[in-house]
Amino acid sequence: FAPWEDPSAKAFIRFDNVTKRFGDFVAVDNLSLDVYEREFFSLLGPSGCGKTTLLRMLAGFEKPSEGRILLDGQDISGVPPHRRPVNMMFQSYALFPHMTVEGNIAFGLKQDGMAKADIAARVNEMLRLTKLEPFAKRKPHQLSGGQRQRVALARSIAKRPKVLLLDEPLGALDRKLREETQFELMDLQQELGLTFVIVTHDQEEAMTVSDRIAVMDHGKIIQVASPAVIYEFPSTRYVADFIGDVNFLSGKIAALDDAGVRIRSDEIACTIVASQDDVDATVGADAWLAIRPEKMRISLDEPADTATNCVSGEVWDIGYLGDVSVYHVKLDNGNVIKSTVTNQTRLVERPIGWDDKVWLTWPRDAGVVLTT
Ligand code: ATP
Repeated sequence: FAPWEDPSAKAFIRFDNVTKRFGDFVAVDNLSLDVYEREFFSLLGPSGCGKTTLLRMLAGFEKPSEGRILLDGQDISGVPPHRRPVNMMFQSYALFPHMTVEGNIAFGLKQDGMAKADIAARVNEMLRLTKLEPFAKRKPHQLSGGQRQRVALARSIAKRPKVLLLDEPLGALDRKLREETQFELMDLQQELGLTFVIVTHDQEEAMTVSDRIAVMDHGKIIQVASPAVIYEFPSTRYVADFIGDVNFLSGKIAALDDAGVRIRSDEIACTIVASQDDVDATVGADAWLAIRPEKMRISLDEPADTATNCVSGEVWDIGYLGDVSVYHVKLDNGNVIKSTVTNQTRLVERPIGWDDKVWLTWPRDAGVVLTT
């Protein structure tokens, strides 16, 4: 059981109806959220949705306008930043340029008055954990971007905080290094048993590293769940669209019973049938089937049953991405639907080319019916 699936589990970090205003502007809007100990938690959302403000309140750099923040059951509103067992690592790293790697890591420990021998031991441990031993005597300008990032990380965990807040920690790294570093971050978090709360723009990164993700919009959380649940069962069109690629087929609910949902649209000839039985809507309501491109089957052959879950159109564009190809199919009503096919499949089947007439079909459990 993950703690967030266990109703008796105690939250480690709790945002309790927190609002943050800057003048008239509401940056965080009556938000409640629980994060559990040792969780790797991501805040994801478009620029300006309030992610950084949430982190800054947890670190103590900003005060909530309303509501409370609890850490391990204690209200930390009155606790200054340096007394919170919380540290924040910034995207800019903010390393001291005149100090060596060791000096940077030791800085906070010295300020805390730690004994010299203990500092040396702790610095060595941090150098080992972040694989920085060969660079201990270098200064930041003598390091690569990835090494500087690790120094910032080593420095931010040197005091052994219970919670580490990371604001776009990998934003300055190139793609390959970023992917490697994601796994290093996960290993480090496991080894130290820390709780990580990370802010990122990069949805793939959030999917890779997180136990759970909160998708935010305009200061509110729209959905909190594991990466797989967010991807497979987004709760709204906003979430479906924000995470990964998605097709929407829109219509109105025609029937809703134990057999699932039927959606009819004036624009599409078929009836959309989904096996989902928990749709919170009534017959006649607007609905969208959200379906991921890899769940959309594409074929040159007309299927036997074209009355349900079947649309046809012409191949408008083909994106070759190495491992997969993405087919953009223009339907008769002008909408473009994407279908992703692995290139392994493409090799053994009849190749589908530009302007080909194709049929797209999907199983009843392939998509999610959304009503907002
Ligand atoms: P990004 O991904 O671009 O960093 P974000 O989701 O982290 O965005 P925040 O930095 O939390 O967003 O900002 C949320 C909103 O609050 C923004 O519209 C921002 O302009 C505003 N804001 C943040 N700090 C202040 C401040 N000190 N004074 C006024 N407005 C602020």
